[in-house]
Amino acid sequence: MDKKEILSKFSTDPERYYKVKLFENEGFMRKSCTTCKRFYWTIDENRVNCPDHSDDTYSFIGNPPTKKRFDYTQAWKEVESFFQKNGHTSVSRYPVVCRWRDDLYFTIASIVDFQRVMGSKVVFEFPANPLVVPQTSLRFKDLENVGVTGRHFSSFCMIGQHSIPNSQGYWKDECVDLDYRLVTEQFGVDKKEVVFVEDVWEGGGSFGSSLEFFVKGLELGNAVFTEFQGDLTNYRTLDQQIIDMGAGLERFAWITMGTPTAYDCCFGPITSNLIEQTGIDTNSELLVRYFTEIAKNFERFNDLSEVRKNAIKSAGLSNEQMDKIITPLEGIYLIIDHIRTLIFAISDGALPSNVGGGYNLRMMLRRIISTMDRLSLKFDINDMIDAQIDYLNDTYPELEETREDVKTIITIEADRYENSKFRMQKIVSKLNQKPTVDDLIRLYESDGVTPDYLKEMKVISDIPSTFYSKLSELHQSKKQKAQDQLSLEGLPETELLYYADDPKEFDAKVLKSFNQYVVLDRTSFYARGGGQEPDHGTIGGFDVVDVNKHGNIVLHELKGGAIKEGDTVSCIVDSQRRDDITKNHTSTHILNSSSRSVLGSWVWQHSAFKEEDHARLDITHHSALTDDEIVKIENLANSVVDKNMSVTIENFDRGTAEQKYGFKIYQGGIVPVKSVRIVSIEDFDTEACGGTHVKKTGEIKLVKITRTKRIQDGVVRIEFVSGDTALNYTKQHDVDLARESAELKDKAKLKEKRQEQKQELRERLPILVENITECKIGTNNVDEIVVDITEPGKPNFCSAMNDQYDEFFHISLGERLIEKDPLMVYCGIFEDGDRIRAIIYSGEQVGKDKKAGDIAKAVSEVLGGAGGGTQRFAQGGGKDKSKKNDAIEKAKTMVLGV
Ligand SMILES: [Zn+2]
Ligand SMILES: [Zn+2]
Repeated sequence: MDKKEILSKFSTDPERYYKVKLFENEGFMRKSCTTCKRFYWTIDENRVNCPDHSDDTYSFIGNPPTKKRFDYTQAWKEVESFFQKNGHTSVSRYPVVCRWRDDLYFTIASIVDFQRVMGSKVVFEFPANPLVVPQTSLRFKDLENVGVTGRHFSSFCMIGQHSIPNSQGYWKDECVDLDYRLVTEQFGVDKKEVVFVEDVWEGGGSFGSSLEFFVKGLELGNAVFTEFQGDLTNYRTLDQQIIDMGAGLERFAWITMGTPTAYDCCFGPITSNLIEQTGIDTNSELLVRYFTEIAKNFERFNDLSEVRKNAIKSAGLSNEQMDKIITPLEGIYLIIDHIRTLIFAISDGALPSNVGGGYNLRMMLRRIISTMDRLSLKFDINDMIDAQIDYLNDTYPELEETREDVKTIITIEADRYENSKFRMQKIVSKLNQKPTVDDLIRLYESDGVTPDYLKEMKVISDIPSTFYSKLSELHQSKKQKAQDQLSLEGLPETELLYYADDPKEFDAKVLKSFNQYVVLDRTSFYARGGGQEPDHGTIGGFDVVDVNKHGNIVLHELKGGAIKEGDTVSCIVDSQRRDDITKNHTSTHILNSSSRSVLGSWVWQHSAFKEEDHARLDITHHSALTDDEIVKIENLANSVVDKNMSVTIENFDRGTAEQKYGFKIYQGGIVPVKSVRIVSIEDFDTEACGGTHVKKTGEIKLVKITRTKRIQDGVVRIEFVSGDTALNYTKQHDVDLARESAELKDKAKLKEKRQEQKQELRERLPILVENITECKIGTNNVDEIVVDITEPGKPNFCSAMNDQYDEFFHISLGERLIEKDPLMVYCGIFEDGDRIRAIIYSGEQVGKDKKAGDIAKAVSEVLGGAGGGTQRFAQGGGKDKSKKNDAIEKAKTMVLGV
């Protein structure tokens, strides 16, 4: 459905869709904008244009329409107290990491807090009715506007006013009346200044009318009435109608303060402190002029650099004023905004990375650093984090708990960026043309090069306005798994015995049997789910090889046969396998909580897998685990095992469970059912989980981490075993260790022996040399060394290839021999690993004719390798061990002739 079509249809019947009691009581007139024709409601007789096209657009800058001034924190107190005195419950914000929705990484609006997806349907769960919530909402598609437009934030506080029309809640009339009174009575804006613009909303199969309310051209909020479902030709009223009023708290503060930008009044003293640090000369008259023009031009141009250019011209700013005032201010605004978003996201358990929602966070931190580098701003990031958390404390005291964790993560991530700069420089230096938006996305996704870095390096002058929206599109929502369809229609839900008495032997009726699959009326076979592998066993004598759940029907896969529909069969679950899997499953919970308590609050279960003889838990963590961390995690886990804690299972209504335990229960992902099964290990761990668990942690006996590995950016895998498998593993591991240490000892002994031999040789060598040189004419043998002495004045030859002699021996002996007998040629051959090596020495008087180098070359050829050297000394070798004798013979022939 097209929004325009809905709007034109609704606008033809304003009585039905837009007119509320307030309009009647206060004498609001319905008008059509002379510029854009949109319909709006006002009590100002003279108004002719909608808020977007009026002359008073953004005239509150420098001239706020209220007597009272409220900054961000105070503005929330005003809003909260107004709604509380009008019967609303004030609810704490929900996490910005949207754990309860499968299709979103981050909470993008207050209404998301209360939406739960069940199948293809969105259902609402309100903890109170009516309610108001200061919901921090993250939006990354306008990132290039942040810091520049004066009003865009990467995260903002959406004031959520929600009501279900029933005995407690209200519908349109009261909603608009409250919003009007909030603006006029509580904030003190003149009634004439409030304009309501007709609009519509549609999404997720439902739609309705909405009224946006503006003051001086600034949209403060939008009251959406979720009312219908169907399509425009045929629609009906929803069973569950919802008031979804969302307003920007930042804008409420801004309108009362009238500062040049919303950034000037929404970060407490932080903005002015930073501006002071940099010594920018802030000429407030000039800033009012410039940012008012920015606001006006923003509606007129699509491209941000056009908006900027025109604002500079209209405000009459010089280039110097832009460079010295506006550009550094934009940088400061961006930095403060991005840090606030990172604080919320990291506090709620998200990590900067190159996957999923982490992309946006990494991008923001890199923008902060690039901006500081580009503008030579020397801010201390940790100081800025402290200042923000201090300021947010009144509204969001929970951030205190994660103060240090946020700093840790940001420091690690900033270092990582610094370390990658050299590589980025190389990549950038290879760019030979101006990158397109797609190039920019590729550069960021595959190499981590941000467009801000390119801007800093002056490769591009502006970041294309579509870059962030494209990137955010790619990474805002999670991919949904496609579910395979099987014809199981008309079958009743399978009764799950494993959630009840959990018998390992039971009888059941065959409701359906096709191919190798069978559906029973009841089953004790655990169906694959939550990372837990399915049970095995037998049904009617056939082996069960797989069990899966399709909706609420359990499908068993059998091996080697089919059974008859209507029969009653006896079933046996392999209880040993189930026990082992169960221990591994409970160990997963224990290790997850242990990891969080050892490593930090950012640790969440990313995924898990529990088989009979091994299991793994993937956690979100920034770096690979150190040996010390692994030991600590394992020790903490085993202390939980040793304490023999009770594992209890309770079923709660989902809303109650969330309120009672928080969103940490969704470690294994969202639970698409109304009643959640909460598994608690005393006060150590609480999770929503549908798996099988031990009753006491002592049953696990032992948890042993076998391996850890960083499997992707921000995710570490912990492989482990538990129960008897762990005991056996440790035993085997001890045996392995013993063997290893024995091997080490042997090696040490061998080394010692060699040292001894060398020493012995040193002592023996002079005697050996003497014995050799004293040999008579002919072939002699001295300690396995063959000595051929010829007539005086002719070459002599000496060779050794006994295994007891090593390199050191041959070199020592060869040198000494040719010194003592200048007519001597020495050839030593020995094994060195899988090679045969040859060492040749040639005495001074024979060296000219019988060069050591030539001999080594020839000998090496015989051995199947290569060699060479000088006249006096040479070496070489080869791999052919069978040619050792041939090699010696070759050398001998070369020296002595035939
Ligand atoms: Zn208009
Ligand atoms: Zn579990």
